Amino acid sequence: LFDDFYFKSLIRTVEDWPKPGISFRDITPIFSNPKGMRMVVDAYVHRYIDSDITHIACIDARGFLIASVLAYELRKPLVLVRKKGKLPGKTISQSYDLEYGSAELEIQEDAVHEGAQVLLFDDLIATGGTLIAAMSLLKQQGATIKEVAAIIDLPDLGGSTKIQDLDIPVFSLCAFE
Ligand code: 5GP
Repeated sequence: LFDDFYFKSLIRTVEDWPKPGISFRDITPIFSNPKGMRMVVDAYVHRYIDSDITHIACIDARGFLIASVLAYELRKPLVLVRKKGKLPGKTISQSYDLEYGSAELEIQEDAVHEGAQVLLFDDLIATGGTLIAAMSLLKQQGATIKEVAAIIDLPDLGGSTKIQDLDIPVFSLCAFE
């Protein structure tokens, strides 16, 4: 059984980081705690073991940490959605707005095939800008996003609602109001 109280104790809140006024939800304690790490991975394995997803896509860099273990367990190909300039060869890119300025995500041109059923994974959903940019890249290659999964949702920032409004299911392990 998923113990929400125990699980939340594995997420550390760092005030005023990276900027004054931000409460950063730090997931590193999950990785330094083998029981916590298993709890997280097992929760996703349980959810997706019988699903018809064909690929797991994940976002640079904290998304990689859980998604790669999940891809191994579920024996699915892993697709890396990376920050601009990290992937060799031909890529397609998508820019998106940040609070101040903008950023760009990329995938390799042959990352997924037409008809792929993708689970898209990141560590945290805030405004949803990052995940929506990644969704756009995967859709451009003919993939269907079956579900978006994250460890943490920050519902007050509206991202998970925005994604659900696009008819994409969202699954998170916990939320901080
Ligand atoms: P969004 O695009 O939804 O506004 O922001 C989500 C992205 O920013 C994710 O890729 C996530 O890694 C990062 N992020 C923003 N705030 C936090 C936070 O408090 N904790 C963690 N771990 N990541 C954050």
